[in-house]
Amino acid sequence: MYGFSFLLTLKPTLLRLNRLYFFISVFFICPILAQEPNPIQAGVAPSENDYQGDLNVLHYDVEIGLGNSADWIEGIVYLKCEVMKDDPNMRLDFTGLSIQSLSVNGLLTKHIYEKGLIEKNLKGFNFGDTVTIKIHYSGTPDDGLILGENVHGNRTAFVDNWPNRTRFWLPSIDYPADKATINYSIHAPVEWKVIANGYLKGNASKTPADAIGPKGDRMTWSWEVTVPISPYNMVIGAGDLEIRSVGLSACGEAPASQREDECIEVTYWVYPEDVDKAKPSFKRAAEMVDYFTKTVGPFPFEKLANVQSSTRFGGMENASAIFYSENAISQGRNIEGTVSHEIAHQWFGDAVTQADWHHLWLSEGFATYFGSLFFEYADGNQSFQKRMESSRKRVIKSEITNKPIIDVNEKDLFKLLNSNNYPKGGWVLHMLRGYLGNELFFKGIRKYYKKYKYKAVLTEEFQKMMEDVSVKQLDWFFDQWIYKPGFPKLSYEETWYSKSGTKGILEVTILQTQKEEWPIFKIPSKVCWLDDCRAVEINQRKNSFKFNFDQKPIQLGVVDPDGWVLKELTLKK
Ligand SMILES: [Zn+2]
Repeated sequence: MYGFSFLLTLKPTLLRLNRLYFFISVFFICPILAQEPNPIQAGVAPSENDYQGDLNVLHYDVEIGLGNSADWIEGIVYLKCEVMKDDPNMRLDFTGLSIQSLSVNGLLTKHIYEKGLIEKNLKGFNFGDTVTIKIHYSGTPDDGLILGENVHGNRTAFVDNWPNRTRFWLPSIDYPADKATINYSIHAPVEWKVIANGYLKGNASKTPADAIGPKGDRMTWSWEVTVPISPYNMVIGAGDLEIRSVGLSACGEAPASQREDECIEVTYWVYPEDVDKAKPSFKRAAEMVDYFTKTVGPFPFEKLANVQSSTRFGGMENASAIFYSENAISQGRNIEGTVSHEIAHQWFGDAVTQADWHHLWLSEGFATYFGSLFFEYADGNQSFQKRMESSRKRVIKSEITNKPIIDVNEKDLFKLLNSNNYPKGGWVLHMLRGYLGNELFFKGIRKYYKKYKYKAVLTEEFQKMMEDVSVKQLDWFFDQWIYKPGFPKLSYEETWYSKSGTKGILEVTILQTQKEEWPIFKIPSKVCWLDDCRAVEINQRKNSFKFNFDQKPIQLGVVDPDGWVLKELTLKK
């Protein structure tokens, strides 16, 4: 995701309480009075007991009916679940819409639906069983699936889930660690195109007259996702969209591709009014995919669509269907930096996913850093350094330097979209690369991706992988940068002591002047006087180093001359 500062200015979008709707369902003869419950609040961190894992969703089969002028939807979802314990308690996340019926393995059944949960005890099911839950629902989504007019005044429908707003339109286990495959069958007005994760199963076909959802001349679009993805990545988007191809990528390196040539197609889907304006932002998208494939590992999904949408974020990395802010594109801004960030997310965040929201840096820090690495590869080191410097300034100026990157006390998930998880997380990777060197760093990254692709991980797994690959103990590194707050504020001073002739001793004093509550950082680095570099390990409030010189250096030494360490440096002359 990108553009979180914009997000923080928004209030939670809880809309239209206390609504009442009448539906005539095609599955029942008599009209149904369907009261939609008030929605719960979005973005609240789950408590430890919320996801006990009684059921594990393996697959969602979703049918949704949309209309051009209707502000309501109708859906039917089948959740195929693996039973993880005897007599499991089914707890599905769902809120704000009404439920017409729920059945378990084909039998209609009673259930409790309140406070954002559908609950039912599935007595008699045992560990290892498979159970299929069918839910028929309808109403006006309060969030998650945004129905409304786009920037040009045309109706569109776009899903915007992050972090846990899938539950506003799709009954689900709305937790990043519960990944599943999904297929969509979307009935949408004939003049619309429909995008979703995965690959398009054949051409759109005419929707039967009795299909669910608002009636009208509609087409049905079927998309299928063949590899497990997190619920927050499950999206559909529909509207008057033009499709442009950027090219083929990751040929022979895209195992989920359904194409005979084993490539993925990179496209962009934008409003007809904005086709020309969008071109500069997406022109290198295929090149980005190839770069990350080469650097990290095979492309994980079936295709890659870049979609102009009504997401509240600058960009949202939905697996294989990235959604971008409609405003940025319609205003003609070049958002290549966002595009690179979101494409990097396909590997980090989407394929390898943080098992818990508080480990978000595994997604956002990685996308920030790898997004910048593309520009190092494509545009040279200067372009990359510029991005790192702007990241550094954001960390230093940020208001959350007193909190660590992993901040389990933060209960408002939207507040995790902060300078710790983005630029500081990116800097952690940069520092690790500086410490381990390119070869070990990228070797570790590739092994980490290979091992955890399509899975969910915590920071411990990443640390362990980097330790195994480098044969180095990295507790100190992760402890000071991930689990503790702040960054080093260094003060540098030199004193020259003459010896015989021009010779002398230069005493270098480096102070760590950051707050007492922040750690004293261990910083293996070097100080250079032009090409003459001396290794130092800064590890105290005050470190002094003495170096012999044949003659007094004409310039002040430069600490960390290649810029591998996140810091604020003051020189004392
Ligand atoms: Zn991101």
